[in-house]
Amino acid sequence: MNQPDPTYVEASGVPANVIKYALQPVSLVLILWYWINDPDNPLAFAITIGALHMVLWPLELSMPARPGWLIRGWEKARDIVLVILLTIATGYVAVLYDALLREPLSDFRQSLNLDVWPHQWPLLVQVFVVFFCSEFIWYWFHRAEHRWHFAWRLTGHGTHHSFKRLGALNFGLNHPLEFFLLVLPAALIELTFGVGLAAAGAAILGTAQASIAHCNLDLNTKGIGWLLTTNRYHIHHHSVVLAESNTNYGCSAIIWDRLFGTFADAQTREAGSGPTEPSLWQKVLMPIREPVDTAIAPD
Ligand SMILES: [Zn+2]
Repeated sequence: MNQPDPTYVEASGVPANVIKYALQPVSLVLILWYWINDPDNPLAFAITIGALHMVLWPLELSMPARPGWLIRGWEKARDIVLVILLTIATGYVAVLYDALLREPLSDFRQSLNLDVWPHQWPLLVQVFVVFFCSEFIWYWFHRAEHRWHFAWRLTGHGTHHSFKRLGALNFGLNHPLEFFLLVLPAALIELTFGVGLAAAGAAILGTAQASIAHCNLDLNTKGIGWLLTTNRYHIHHHSVVLAESNTNYGCSAIIWDRLFGTFADAQTREAGSGPTEPSLWQKVLMPIREPVDTAIAPD
């Protein structure tokens, strides 16, 4: 399965190579720079993530790494609407966790003397501390989804893997049940340690990274791929081959895969949960009834 994909289009020419090497680091720098100039702005998440997708969308159309994965027309429109609705729902899950967990976790912090958050550090450094700590928890949650059948089903993780063609929007195409798990790591870090402002920056950084990690472009992995995931690494996690799917659990950071022995660097020939893509309704029902051709669900 590891032979090169003959349909994969590698970047060639100056504009494509500028995108290949600059898109990910420049996007992250610009997004964090915008946020840190007004970290209280409640619209910063929508503006930065919206702007990133307005850049990724035309690039995917004009220089896709896998032309066969392009999504157009009503299907694209449906995905945009779904991602917007699901992202808004995710915000409500975060509000719910805040309402339920802020007080007990604050009591927990005080009882154990966990008032250790480095509020005096530069805000940007705090953002990266929240980001890598949240990603550490997410790494184990995600690994558990792929290890235990009940965790896979309960969170509907199969839905996120069921897409045969990936693009930047797949960052937000999960089963609604899974958002309760996706939001939890950052909420636990934020509320246990009383993080404050940096948590908002980390949420933007994580979502930008997850968007780039799913995009259908030929991007560089060298350098940036030591700590942060790239689309080459994350798309490998979306492979239809079980052994390939059980690698690269980090959806935004990759350092934890490198440290815990689940990192893989190889090209991916085919994505999805099986040979065919389930319908939208089959995807919604995946927590209770899995398509018979599912090849990557844990036993
Ligand atoms: Zn997964």
